[in-house]
Amino acid sequence: MLQLQNYINGQLVASLSGRYLDNIEPATGQVYGQIPDSGPADVAAAVRAAEAALPAWRARSAEERGRILVCIADLIDANLERLAQAESRDNGKPIALARVMDIPRAASNFHFFGTAAEHFATEAHVQEGVALNYTVRHPIGVVGCISPWNLPLYLFTWKIAPALAVGCCVVAKPSEITPATAFLLGELCQEAGLPAGVLNIVHGTGPGCGQAIVEHPGIKAISFTGGTATGRHLARTAAPLFKKLSLELGGKNPNLVFADCDLAAAVATSIRSSFANQGQICLCGSRIFIERPIYEAFKTEFLRQLEAQKVGDPLEADTRQGALVSEAHLHKVLEYIKLAHEEGGRLLAGGYRVAVPGRCANGYFLEPTVFENLPHDCRTNQEEIFGPVVTLTPFDTDQEAISWANSTDYGLSATIWTTNLNRAHRVAQALHSGIVWVNTWLHRDLRTPFGGMKNSGVGREGGLEALRFFTEAQNVCIKF
Ligand code: NAD
Repeated sequence: MLQLQNYINGQLVASLSGRYLDNIEPATGQVYGQIPDSGPADVAAAVRAAEAALPAWRARSAEERGRILVCIADLIDANLERLAQAESRDNGKPIALARVMDIPRAASNFHFFGTAAEHFATEAHVQEGVALNYTVRHPIGVVGCISPWNLPLYLFTWKIAPALAVGCCVVAKPSEITPATAFLLGELCQEAGLPAGVLNIVHGTGPGCGQAIVEHPGIKAISFTGGTATGRHLARTAAPLFKKLSLELGGKNPNLVFADCDLAAAVATSIRSSFANQGQICLCGSRIFIERPIYEAFKTEFLRQLEAQKVGDPLEADTRQGALVSEAHLHKVLEYIKLAHEEGGRLLAGGYRVAVPGRCANGYFLEPTVFENLPHDCRTNQEEIFGPVVTLTPFDTDQEAISWANSTDYGLSATIWTTNLNRAHRVAQALHSGIVWVNTWLHRDLRTPFGGMKNSGVGREGGLEALRFFTEAQNVCIKF
């Protein structure tokens, strides 16, 4: 049985409580490992290590820090297969996806921010003949990074890398549901020569360990990705402590398909944007609005291509749909399927738990599920399901599509399918979404601002936004 450890002060150590939590493999429903059930004492030890490491780490040049981060990126690449196997087993995601998306992106995160810090310039404001102002961006200090289970190493490193790049030291907690690759990252950091205490990884539950990170007075900023309810609780905890917060929260993203689109491209990508990672990507487009003249054509082709989405053992190379992450999450999604029926939805595909024979007989598998005939304002179309469930809805005018798209409390991402350039610009700018993709989905450039409007979050990650978040701006004014 795999027993994970915390990574504190450069060492792999057990939790001070001596307690462990079970780690379950979603594809089998079996306990296959244990993780430290860390609490405030472990977090305090991690913060002490980070505070001790901070002066030397921030004093290094951006180039020196960057070299170590690029070395970590190279080690992630060199261990791609091992990490992809671990991610697939821990999360239930198809190994094919972990190999091309999760693990390569984790390496890119370290590579991108490892080199970005060297290009991080600052502003000067000259008051002609009077004074010169310049801005210094100091690393904010010890920071906390808390991440969710859906893209474990991908999102964990997306937070850690920019913090380290600007000279912060980090106390990080992965989701207790998917801790495996974060543990392996600790080993790779040792191998890369990251100085002890610069990055500390503590495992444990949200209330037991995450809460202690948010409350610790030595932690100056929190970068959090997770659910909107958790984000709200975190904001309440952090506000009186005046901590800087970056919150990347839930979504209920619209996918707008106009009649003038390239239908083949729209359908093929919509299959991905609906069901990639079993629909458990915050950016998945679960509300598909289709302009009425092509509604039937889109639906027919979408349902045809859906048949090729093989549900099966995530460790098999040709599996396209793996297991949902946990039994509790499977039941939450099944409850939403029941609700969709109650709200008058017509089931077009899926809707049931799948029994995958062999070692996966007790796994948490669900058929990709499609409903139609649901109003835009019903709960199925308003609440985040975060599973392989989408709705198809015809619309008649651009205005109708825009107002339905904007009708939820969320505003993370949106996708538009059209070949009309004017419409693309007009609709994109009318949408209340932090990210709008036109004729593509999940196309990422790490320099761009990433984050949501409304209940999808506060602040932006990515590029300069992330480097600024982990720094404190100071104005120096020199009178001539
Ligand atoms: P979650 O909010 O349950 O947990 C996220 C993390 O927060 C976990 O590490 C958890 O242990 C920790 N946590 C829980 N309670 C805490 C507390 N009181 N104090 C500190 N930490 C605490 O979310 P989840 O179920 O792991 O992830 C799914 C959610 O994440 C979905 O809503 C999804 O949309 C969202 N998400 C958003 C983005 C984005 O970029 N906006 C990306 C991925 C996932």
